[in-house]
Amino acid sequence: MSSLGVPVHTVNCPTCGKLVDWVAQNRYRPFCSERCKLVDFGAWAAEEYRIPERVAGRHAVLGV
Ligand SMILES: [Zn+2]
Repeated sequence: MSSLGVPVHTVNCPTCGKLVDWVAQNRYRPFCSERCKLVDFGAWAAEEYRIPERVAGRHAVLGV
């Protein structure tokens, strides 16, 4: 057990699957980088914009 105590919540980048620390410093969360965020956004904006629930559901699952 570590005395540091605070467990870091991690998520998998929706674009590339890389493990991402869910921390305030990560402005691109749940993505690992701006590039992955833009790739994902471009994908659904172009093809799935009719299903906005996808975005809401993602945040609900993360629960942060
Ligand atoms: Zn990524």
